[in-house]
Amino acid sequence: MTSHTTDAYPASARRLFIGGKWVDAADGETFVTLDPATEEPLATVARARARDVDRAVTAAREAFDAGPWRRMAPGARGRIIHRIGDLILEHADELARLDTLDNGKPISFASVADIPMAADLFHYMSGWASKIEGRSVPYSNAPHGTTLAFTLREPVGVVGQIIPWNFPLMMAAWKLGPALAAGCTVVLKPAEQTPLSALRLAELMQEAGLPDGVVNVVPGYGDAGAALAAHPGVDKIAFTGSTEVGREIVRAAAEDLKKVTLELGGKSPNIVFADADLERAVAASTGAIFFNQGESCTAGSRLFVERAVFDEVVDGIAEQAERMRIGPGLEPDTELGPLVSREQLDRVMGYIDSGRREGARLVTGGTRVGERGYFVAPTVFTDTTAGMRIRAEEIFGPVLVATPFDDTDDIVRLANDSVYGLAAGVFTRDAAKAYRTAAALRAGTVWVNTWNTLDAAVPFGGYKQSGWGREMGQEALNGYLETKSVITGLA
Ligand code: NAP
Ligand code: MG
Repeated sequence: MTSHTTDAYPASARRLFIGGKWVDAADGETFVTLDPATEEPLATVARARARDVDRAVTAAREAFDAGPWRRMAPGARGRIIHRIGDLILEHADELARLDTLDNGKPISFASVADIPMAADLFHYMSGWASKIEGRSVPYSNAPHGTTLAFTLREPVGVVGQIIPWNFPLMMAAWKLGPALAAGCTVVLKPAEQTPLSALRLAELMQEAGLPDGVVNVVPGYGDAGAALAAHPGVDKIAFTGSTEVGREIVRAAAEDLKKVTLELGGKSPNIVFADADLERAVAASTGAIFFNQGESCTAGSRLFVERAVFDEVVDGIAEQAERMRIGPGLEPDTELGPLVSREQLDRVMGYIDSGRREGARLVTGGTRVGERGYFVAPTVFTDTTAGMRIRAEEIFGPVLVATPFDDTDDIVRLANDSVYGLAAGVFTRDAAKAYRTAAALRAGTVWVNTWNTLDAAVPFGGYKQSGWGREMGQEALNGYLETKSVITGLA
């Protein structure tokens, strides 16, 4: 499997994309992105540093201040965004392969989830470009006909977008779609582990007719992200990643009070009541934690099961976990690929060891699989206590912590006992119970009898330390718009 290299992949697109041109880093530096299934190098990519970020911000600023993007007819802007979605679908196989190689994820999932959802987001957002409306506001404290007030919704300006490695193309789409619909210009920094699909997307965006400088892509490490967050030419930062780095973004943005939206971590509770369709609950709960190797901010990593059915549900999940086909993402029947990096492997194995040391009971998994590639067996723990690290902290790997509950009233308190509030799930056949529980959970998304069901039209984001603002849906646009009130005295 040596010609894993991205043969169909033009070398130009391994450089930085600034002002519509492919350029080397100012100091010529590069880095290597690896295939996590083989640990072999995949591609050498230009590494952006602060100077390059500055060049990219300058290009985005020029495109915003003087370029055609925010001046063109909104319908024309929408058609370019729509065309980006079309081109993603036309190149779906190639893009699925890139994300699978770079991230490790099963290609069967990338093909049905990551790539079509990225296209969907652009298609959905394309319609908004021509539907961003202000309001006429009746003045509350002046006689009728003496004052005219209305609002305009305007793009926030130059946006810095910093994205993680778990859904490389999809995260780029979630960020770019609403920013472009709003008329913003963008500097995008993909994660160091997975820069390839964002660079390919830049080519496709240019092909779709996006004017130069509207989107600039600067692959690099955390220092490039930090330079972007601190740059005075950036009006807004949109970040997805860890809660720790989210805090650093806020600190960096505090200097010039940039607007900030954040999509951060989670430790999402999944509640299975005894009256649930257990077959469905077991299948969905297995997917909730092991989908994408558990490297998902919405991973259903804290499972709570009503005691009467606890053993049945946990045994069912363990059985499905043991049957999962583990292997390189490119193999068509792989269900669980490698973790993204050596660092992530060490981190996840560290959590598994801490669970063992702290006295949790290992039901299944708990081991690295093979010696080459970053594979970890799907892992289930029971018998944890609230203070254990595996119960409280985001692991971002295929590790489930299952806990029985007796008291239906107490389960909401247990589920809400987390600094995070990204997602939650409820499995029951009782509609009233489902609604009462959904209403009481402190989470940005609550799934009932399903998990990870997402749509471009439905807002997504976090309560508590899981973030600020929302992605997708109409709400995502709010993060890229300012409101201007225009008030005219008529009397
Ligand atoms: P991370 O450090 O938060 O990375 C996210 C993005 O931020 C990457 O593009 C990263 O660049 C960049 N970055 C790093 N330091 C920065 C800084 N000081 N200022 C601005 N940008 C910065 O996440 P990670 O280290 O890859 O993963 C660690 C943990 O984060 C995971 O185990 C998981 O718990 C959590 N995580 C959450 C999500 C999510 O969807 N909510 C996604 C990924 C990870 P580099 O790629 O060069 O580091
Ligand atoms: Mg990689």
